[in-house]
Amino acid sequence: MSTLFLRTLRDDPADAEVPSHKLLVRAGYVRRAAPGVYSWLPLGLRVLRAVEQVVREEMDAIGAQEILLPALLPREPYEATNRWTEYGDNLFRLKDRKGVDMLLGPTHEELFSQLVKGEYSSYKDLPVILYQIQTKYRDEERPRAGILRGREFVMKDSYSFDLDDDGLKVAYNLHREAYQKIFNRLGVKYVIVSATSGAMGGSASEEFLAESEVGEDTFVRCVESGYAANVEAVVTPAPEPLPFDDAPAAQVHDTENTPTIATLVAWANSALDREVTAADTLKNVLVKLQVPGAEPEIVGIGVPGDREVDMKRLEAAVEPASVELLTEEDFAANPFLVKGYVGPNALLGNGLRYLVDPRVVDGTRWITGADQPGKHVVDLVAGRDFVPTGTIEAAEVREGDLSPDGKGVLTAAKGIEIGHIFQLGQKYTNAFEVDVLGESGKPVRLTMGSYGVGVSRLVAVIAEQCHDDKGLRWPREVTPFDVHVVIANKDAAAIDGAEALAAELDAQALSVVLDDRKASPGVKFKDAELLGVPTTMVVGRGFAGGVVEVRDRFTGEAREIPVEGAAAAIAAIVRG
Ligand code: ATP
Ligand code: MG
Repeated sequence: MSTLFLRTLRDDPADAEVPSHKLLVRAGYVRRAAPGVYSWLPLGLRVLRAVEQVVREEMDAIGAQEILLPALLPREPYEATNRWTEYGDNLFRLKDRKGVDMLLGPTHEELFSQLVKGEYSSYKDLPVILYQIQTKYRDEERPRAGILRGREFVMKDSYSFDLDDDGLKVAYNLHREAYQKIFNRLGVKYVIVSATSGAMGGSASEEFLAESEVGEDTFVRCVESGYAANVEAVVTPAPEPLPFDDAPAAQVHDTENTPTIATLVAWANSALDREVTAADTLKNVLVKLQVPGAEPEIVGIGVPGDREVDMKRLEAAVEPASVELLTEEDFAANPFLVKGYVGPNALLGNGLRYLVDPRVVDGTRWITGADQPGKHVVDLVAGRDFVPTGTIEAAEVREGDLSPDGKGVLTAAKGIEIGHIFQLGQKYTNAFEVDVLGESGKPVRLTMGSYGVGVSRLVAVIAEQCHDDKGLRWPREVTPFDVHVVIANKDAAAIDGAEALAAELDAQALSVVLDDRKASPGVKFKDAELLGVPTTMVVGRGFAGGVVEVRDRFTGEAREIPVEGAAAAIAAIVRG
């Protein structure tokens, strides 16, 4: 450590909010170079390489073959799939000296498709799974938490190519099992959740989410049935339509001073002779959808008034469009939109799309805006007084909601996406006409899967799940060193003895960091805890009496062992 390129910091970096970010910077694992762009210092790089190695071994074990594509890519393939445009601001675009457009790869479906098309021509060549561990670039809107969400990050991305759907399912399941092994080896606590609504049938896509309070993904699960899904993928069970022949006619009421759902409900309970809750009101939220490269579109989203619109669910539902709320200028430009009193009919009557929550089925009666200042309409019946353009999954999902499979209720938790497996089908093979000659002599269009693991993100995820108030606590699989040897004794004999012990540990094929700095034992112990190596050997006062101390970073337990045979004893601890 007297020569190691390492400086630990006493204070948390000012821009860090989550523990992993604070600790990885304080412990000298990474340093910020620009927002969302980080340098890896010696200890950080060792952990990153260890994670890579676990991923590589498990990918190799399913017969996937490692290759490496460039990160600097031509525009044309991304033009062919429209992702040059669809990716929007997230794509790093650049020009070469001749003015030719290029990009920094955010993910590589296009290039892998082209590559397979170029190399393979017969059904006999298939199936194949190719992967790379490579640096990716995405100009994230909100880079966050250090390496957790970077603009430059390391991903393992793999792509499977098969002759038919059965083959694709095999490749998908191979990945699913490999990912389970990877995350188990890394000691990550995770859940597998569906990432698509299942509308396409089955498990077309699943995400692996590491359980964490600081996660940006919310997932729900149902203990009774085992259902688990990213909230973005939850499908709201729609109730049966109701008969409305006997429903009263819609009535417009003066409702001065009811700017919020709560005040509207209070008004309704005093003015109407029935009990009303927020769930009886229909809240219309106006948004502007922006498909990259197209004109923005104003759309009305109708949700029961007891629920908020969940922007992430809405964004997932309208992808690749981005979502913005309307500005004052937008209202001014569309005078039929009466702010605070927008109802279904002004939207539909003026040619806007009006998308509603699936609970808004025919026959349901609503209290909603009457498209006039200070007025609401009561008993507006869906299917009779207005016919929405369609439904949308935009309302928030809450704990206690019925599980979509009807077998219990949902509970919610936060997670960080560490892996994603996806049965793509023929989207990319169609774009590039990736065909091989089939057994029958006719061309067969290949079908494809794509599978990602956030390799650099995992370093932060492990730090997030494995730390305490003193510092990091690495699992054995990824620790930068197996053993941290602290010299806590100024005697020349002890110093020599520590160096000899470190050499013996090294001879046991263990990786060792030796704290030989001229610093106080207190400083060294603090740093050892901060760095988080699972086993520390302290060569201290007891050395003259023939003992050293072994400390366990996980349990905090310390015990003395004889110097004689210490290296072998520690090797046994490390190897478990
Ligand atoms: P997110 O929802 O977190 O933005 P994503 O769905 O865009 O992720 P994918 O395109 O599925 O991510 O990429 C595969 C994996 O790469 C993800 O599961 C995640 O672990 C990792 N990853 C994605 N974006 C980043 C990032 N900005 N920084 C670090 N890792 C990332
Ligand atoms: Mg994903």
